Amino acid sequence: MGKTVRLILGDQLNAFHSWYQNISKDTLYVMMEVRQETDYAHHHVQKVLAFFTAMRSFAYRLKNGGHEIIYLQLDDPRNIQSIPNNLDWILKDAAASRFEYQLPDEFRLDAQLSTYAEGLSVTSKAVDTEHFLTERNELKQFFTGKKTYLMESFYRDMRKRYDILMDGQNPSTGKWNYDAENRSKLPDTSLLISHPNQSRSVESIQKMLSKAGVVTIGKEAETGLNWPCTREEGLELLAFFCEELLPYFGKYQDAMHTDDPFLFHSKLSFALNVKLLHPLEVVHAVEEKWRNDPEKYGIAQVEGFIRQVLGWREYMRGIYWAEMPAFAHLNYFGHKTPLPEYYWSGNTRMNCMSQCINQSLEKAYAHHIQRLMVTGNFALLAGIDPDEVDAWYLGIYVDAIQWVEITNTRGMSQYADGGIVGTKPYVSSANYIDKMSNYCSGCHYNKTKKFGDKACPFNSLYWSFYARNRDKLEKNPRIGFVYKTLDRMKDREKILAQGDEYLANLEKL
Ligand code: FAD
Ligand code: SF4
Repeated sequence: MGKTVRLILGDQLNAFHSWYQNISKDTLYVMMEVRQETDYAHHHVQKVLAFFTAMRSFAYRLKNGGHEIIYLQLDDPRNIQSIPNNLDWILKDAAASRFEYQLPDEFRLDAQLSTYAEGLSVTSKAVDTEHFLTERNELKQFFTGKKTYLMESFYRDMRKRYDILMDGQNPSTGKWNYDAENRSKLPDTSLLISHPNQSRSVESIQKMLSKAGVVTIGKEAETGLNWPCTREEGLELLAFFCEELLPYFGKYQDAMHTDDPFLFHSKLSFALNVKLLHPLEVVHAVEEKWRNDPEKYGIAQVEGFIRQVLGWREYMRGIYWAEMPAFAHLNYFGHKTPLPEYYWSGNTRMNCMSQCINQSLEKAYAHHIQRLMVTGNFALLAGIDPDEVDAWYLGIYVDAIQWVEITNTRGMSQYADGGIVGTKPYVSSANYIDKMSNYCSGCHYNKTKKFGDKACPFNSLYWSFYARNRDKLEKNPRIGFVYKTLDRMKDREKILAQGDEYLANLEKL
């Protein structure tokens, strides 16, 4: 009998997968760095570096554990830069009698590998990644017969199923959701805590990428790559988060500040998405902190975090598999405007946008509210083509993998799905941004003005968005009140004219 070849993709770095329980000379693991993956989007350079570093560390770990492995670097002369083409010669050289792979999280790779496996003359098998807390198609089944996918009911079911923050069938504290207590502005900078430095030199990979001519965006970190690329680093970051940041997480979850891009956020998304960490171990670590010291941690902080991982993360994955591939083409408002150039340069006089974009270019990171209520909010108000918005989000963030990027961007942020993910568009004027951040005080524009000299673009574009999309939004019961306000506005014509002027001159903002 020939060998079994097992493919491990770059986001399948789950060291506890049952595959690795037995060591066998008849099993050959394969990992590869390929142009197919570096080139399907314009990725942030730190994202490519983090993926390759994490993959190399994982391969080293498997090899050290006694497993047989072929690791193809991008510059390996044998590497023909596509997964199927490399597999062809690897299977042949190994005289393989069987091919196995873990189910990819992305539709694109799922289609590619299932087609490839079907065409093989040897037997093949796809296995679960043993990472998520729900099956791929479970969300669709959960909501069969219902009009909308309501995150809250899914989340409550997950709390019960995994017995998280529960006493029997009831929430431990008598209340399911503390979202209303998660909306404070940072009072001052004295609360800020430096995140741990996990920097490493990635010079040799950087050189390899430059030599190969891989096109990337964003800045290389001057002091090395500061993302957790091994399981140990992921655990170290989780422990730091639980000890230092969790006590403030929920309360300041929506806050934004010029002095600190991370605030009390965990920075765990990369480690989770490439599966160095398991979502349940993260949730359990957080719950345990609260159970041991409810005074220090406070239920609103802990529940706020658990809702993200146990609720939103699994829910978005479920939406992805329920709605793809059609989801990738939805454009409810028919938006067609190109993405303004400052999304790539950060060069705009809107301080909130400049802060969030520059931070993203520098760190490959922005937290949820920066993504949703600044860059996403602006793109929606300005009527940007969701294809271009998606391409930007898919490239720029270290944690961006399509299943979680597109559902958040096209769905939650751009409402291009017409209400599959969210019940109404997430849009706001300067009011919200000012309430949650210190951005407006350093801005060229005036946060209180809706029209005229230096009027904040978010103000007139907010009303213009609603006026332009009246036929699509007025009947939404969560929105109707907006139109009542719009119709009563004394300066409505001037505000809408200001919106038109900004729309015609988006690049100059
Ligand atoms: P924390 O605030 O510390 O949250 C903890 C964890 O909860 C995260 O690590 C993440 O795993 C999970 N989580 C939180 N919110 C969400 C959410 N809405 N959907 C799924 N998981 C969530 N997240 C990605 O992982 N990849 C993406 O490509 C991505 N694109 C996004 C695009 C837009 C427009 C928006 C609005 C959100 C996007 N998110 C994405 C969700 C969220 O912004 C990030 O998960 C989060 O900012 C990562 O930082 P953190 O680890 O410090 O998160
Ligand atoms: Fe952003 Fe307007 Fe505030 Fe300037 S005034 S930071 S553009 S919301």
